[in-house]
Amino acid sequence: MYPKIILKPHKEKPVLAHHPWIFSGAIARVENAHDGDTVDVCDSAGKFIARGYYNSQSQIAVRVWTWDDEPIDRTFFQRRLQAALAARTMLINHTTTNAYRWMNAESDGMPGLIVDRYADVVVVQCLTLGIEKRKTEIMDGLTELGAHNIYERSDVDVREKEGLSAVVGVLRGEEPAERVEIVENGLRFLVDVKRGHKTGFYLDQRENRQKVAELFRAAEILNVFAYTGGFAVYLCAAHPNTRVINLDASHDVLELARENLRLNRCEDRGEFAEGDAFYVLRQYRDRGRSFDAIILDPPKFVPTQSQLNAGLRGYKDINLLAFKLLKPGGLLATFSCSGQVSAALFQKVVFEAATDAKRDAQIIAKLSQSSDHPILLSFPESEYLKGLVCRVL
Ligand code: SAH
Repeated sequence: MYPKIILKPHKEKPVLAHHPWIFSGAIARVENAHDGDTVDVCDSAGKFIARGYYNSQSQIAVRVWTWDDEPIDRTFFQRRLQAALAARTMLINHTTTNAYRWMNAESDGMPGLIVDRYADVVVVQCLTLGIEKRKTEIMDGLTELGAHNIYERSDVDVREKEGLSAVVGVLRGEEPAERVEIVENGLRFLVDVKRGHKTGFYLDQRENRQKVAELFRAAEILNVFAYTGGFAVYLCAAHPNTRVINLDASHDVLELARENLRLNRCEDRGEFAEGDAFYVLRQYRDRGRSFDAIILDPPKFVPTQSQLNAGLRGYKDINLLAFKLLKPGGLLATFSCSGQVSAALFQKVVFEAATDAKRDAQIIAKLSQSSDHPILLSFPESEYLKGLVCRVL
């Protein structure tokens, strides 16, 4: 018997439709549940509808484990981890790729848990108290499924909303090397799992890197927000006459981008520019520079709803500059990873940017997050990355 959470009348509908979040405002009564406990969620008549974990400190008071009456124990975690891994066996070509998202939280039935694999290193992010409290059992599950070196990168802001502070360090096995070498679609990359962004690499862009490399057969490409050169390596490896200018505000990531190009024998075709994209793109415009193709893959400009307008101005600004910098027939791959910005809204912003730049353009591809970051149909919030490939006329 688990403690009970009783919902207010009529608040059960989204839960019955398998949305995995229950907001505190939907709850009428909490019966003996402590923060982090597994709880039974009941409708206002007291009927069981779901089982999840509770945290009174979070706006998202319950995250649902299951809609069945099943025990939440080691074997439950084991089954969920195993099912997600089995799905990746189908999604990932393991002969050419050894870095992928193994567990994508809510979308894989483990709310609050991210597990990424980088060759023989597994990196986890525990985003919630419910996961934090079950860490040992979950790590045991990962170990049983072959993860021997597990590193934790729970240094994310969302933990604050759960009343948790940042945790980073070895959970199992050996300390990872300063640079872990991975293979992605046959290309080699060095990943800094200890200090890099997210868990070290933007795995969610894997399929888009490949798609953009297929479409961009251009001579001179500007890769804005280049990070460690993901797009640059794909482009240079695919096309022997392509040169890529990698622009990023961080010196350290550009050093790694240079090493990644070298590792794939393309170093002579990379250029590196350190600076603020908003400033550097204006400089290029003022100097009358132009490019055959441009990639814009900025950080999240809209982290919260209150920053929506400021963020949208940011997206519009860089896209406007990019449209101005493209040669006729030039290609733009432009992305937004802000969950608060829908695909339709993003397309509208890109349209406004093109209008203000006085350019007509066609959309030739619409992009999303890679398939190992699945979007749960009953949980549209799990869709966050969208991209457009545009051809200017
Ligand atoms: N395209 C990359 C991921 C980009 S992540 C890949 O596929 O791996 C976003 C990058 O933008 C980070 O490297 C960060 O250092 C950089 N960045 C953030 N703000 C910036 C700014 N104002 N100007 C230039 N770079 C910026």
